[in-house]
This record gives sequence, structure tokens and C-alpha cells, in this order.
Amino acid sequence: MYTYAIVPASVEPAAGRSARREPGLKWSRFGDQVIYWTTGASGSAAVRRVNTLGAVTQSSHGLPFLVVQAGNIFRDEFPDIPVILDKGRYLAVELSDAAVARLSAGNPAEFGFAPLPHNTAVVKEVLRAEHPLRTIDPAMTMLAAQVSSKRLQESLVSLTGFGTRHSLSGGFQHAVDWAADSFQSLGYSVTCSRITVGTGASFSVIADKPGTSADPGLVLVTAHLDSINHLDGPLAPAPGADDDGSGCAGVLEIARILSTRVDDHDLRLILFGGEEEGLFGSQQYVAALSGHDRDRLTAAINMDMVGTLNSAERGVLLEGAPVSQRLIDQLAASAQDYTSLHVDVSLHPFASDHVPFIIAGLPAVLTIEGSDSANHTIHSSQDTLNTIDYTLACEIVTMNLVTAARLLGTHTSINDLVRWRQSTLSDDSD
Ligand SMILES: [Zn+2]
Repeated sequence: MYTYAIVPASVEPAAGRSARREPGLKWSRFGDQVIYWTTGASGSAAVRRVNTLGAVTQSSHGLPFLVVQAGNIFRDEFPDIPVILDKGRYLAVELSDAAVARLSAGNPAEFGFAPLPHNTAVVKEVLRAEHPLRTIDPAMTMLAAQVSSKRLQESLVSLTGFGTRHSLSGGFQHAVDWAADSFQSLGYSVTCSRITVGTGASFSVIADKPGTSADPGLVLVTAHLDSINHLDGPLAPAPGADDDGSGCAGVLEIARILSTRVDDHDLRLILFGGEEEGLFGSQQYVAALSGHDRDRLTAAINMDMVGTLNSAERGVLLEGAPVSQRLIDQLAASAQDYTSLHVDVSLHPFASDHVPFIIAGLPAVLTIEGSDSANHTIHSSQDTLNTIDYTLACEIVTMNLVTAARLLGTHTSINDLVRWRQSTLSDDSD
């Protein structure tokens, strides 16, 4: 038996602050809502305190757990499990011992679960007022203006045209060739790095642009090239437009815009294979990283599902861990300075290519469509181009582009400005 109340964060502070001192009472923040709960006996001080906070529910069906899901997969797969609070990718649910056993047998690539973390924020909103108004850097404004929804669309048309990008399919091999050619034509040196996916073989595509510093840092921008169809099997159509064509198109757009610049530090763009089967590409990449690269890795900015708008407001979720807090702050600042995105932050990383980096103690962040990502189409033939909101994708790409450029120590010369102006004059895109 436990007792809980869900309180809007806007009315919570005063009552919440004193309630949080009550022994036996736990709280967990989900953006604009806070759950208070206690497993104390009825009539206890903690239960009385929860009663003062809001509409109270008592439950004897289990205990509160946190679920982190890809898209809306958990809710679709377990419609009978009671959801206490729905924050899109993050759910507070109620689990009995029997339900815990059932979930333990589920697919760990689709959702993760753990007892609800207490006295912490699962998701924290970054309010605009939290960041002091910065002097907008004209060089960054210039970069941001080059992000083109038309080019994102062109890349997505190619990416979704391979039938499936299942890591072990012929379609994936075509996608690898296409991505390698795309990077090469922009002047990057490209490696198709062989990986294993279970007992099969696949690839990650790695594109490098060296910096000019004698002792350069390393900035990574990543996405996963593979797609999957869980409903109809490995050969079935898996256009993977949002998951993760959108991230790949974003990496290629950042590659294009940064390609002609002279930066201090090294830029490395990676399109991983084997993500959908369990993060094979990123795990093997991190395991093989040299000590030197680990030491100089400043940031790994990962883009996964940045194209589908599921809420009224365009937003981005920055998901990392304490090791990536500085990168999260940097991304949030870029979002606030150069986009209109609403920003949510979570330090509960799950199921994308940022996770192996974080486990290795490296500063990685997943950037993903905002906190209400209720995408029902992923991992099926329905993840098609018409799910893409190009304004949203452009904004998230802009945030990542500006952040990468800031970390690369980009100097803008007068020649860059002149070249940019000339290219805008002749540019037929938006
Ligand atoms: Zn994905």
C-alpha cells in the first residue's frame, strides 16, 4: 500500500518545500508536475502530509516505478499497467511483483524500468529566465541561418528510399555507401568501420575533419543509420523517417555547414549501425576508443528522433547524466539563444547511442523531440516522411550545430562572411 498525490510544480513550491522535510515522504519531479508519495501506514504523519498537498490516491496494486520508453512502445505493449503520470518518454507507473516479473522478460531495447527515483527530478524544465540574456554572436547567427529544411528533406527522401535500413540488409549497405559518398563529397575523410551485430556483420560510417590546433579536442555529432520493423520482421519495409532518418539528415546538414570552416578542434561525425538491435555500433566504438581520444573528447551530441512533433509546443529533451551536465547547459543555452524550442532535461539516460559513452564516463547527450514524444509509428512501416515536422527538425539541428561550432572553437574570418553572403545570394533554398 502506498499513498500519492500529483501536484502542479507551479503551485507546489511553498507547500512542497516543507513537505519534503517530512520523514518517510518521497518526491519525484516530472517537468511541470511533482509526485509525492509515501509507503507509510495510514494515519502516519507522512500520509497526513501527502493529504495536505493535493488530490490523494491510495493504491494497493504495487509500488511506483519509472519507465523510460522508446516512442510510445511501453504504453502500446502494456495497456493494462496503471500509469500514474505520463511525460511521454518517461512514465511513472504502478507495478505489482507479478508485473515486475512480466516486464523483466520484455525487450530491453524498447523500455527500461526501475523503482521511481525519489527526491530528484526525473525531468526538469529549463525555463528561459534561468539563463541570463546572452550577447548573440553574429557568427553563430550566420551559421544558424544556413540550416535548410529543403536539404533535410532531400536527405530524408534518400534515407527512406532504401526500403529498410535493417543493419544486416542490402538496403543498409546502400545507405552506408550513400552516407559515405555524401560525407566524402563534402571533403571529409570517411571510414566505414566494421561492426558485429549479434552473429552478423554491419558498419558504422565515420567522417573526420581535423582542426588546426596543435593539441586538438574532439567533438562528436552522431545518429544511427539503421532502422527496424518490429511488427513484420527484418526484411519488411522500415523507412525509419523519424527513427532515425531525422538524426542522420541532421548530422549530414551539420556536416555540410561546417565543412568549409577552419576550426581549432577535430570534428567527427558518426552514423552508427546496429542501434536498434542493442546499441552495437556505439558500444563497439566506445570500447575501441583510444585513451588519447577519451581524454580529448569534449562532447558527443547524439540525435535520435528529432523530426516528429507530438505536442503543441516545439520542444527538445536533453537526456544525459551528471558527467554531461556542462554539455547539457551548453545545448540549453544554444536552444535559448538561437531557437524557440522549449527545453526539458533528464539525467536518466536510456536506449540510444549516448548510453555507452555515459557508461564510459564520457560527456554525451541525447537530443530528442520534446518531453511528450508519443510517436506510435516507430519500428514499423508507418515511420514515413509525412510524420516529419521540418521546422522542429531544423530547430534541433540548429541547437546542435551552434553548440558543436562553439565547442570547435570556430573563428570566423572575413572570408567566411564574404563566402557565406555570396552563397546566400545564389542559394535557391529557404
Ligand atoms: Zn532510434
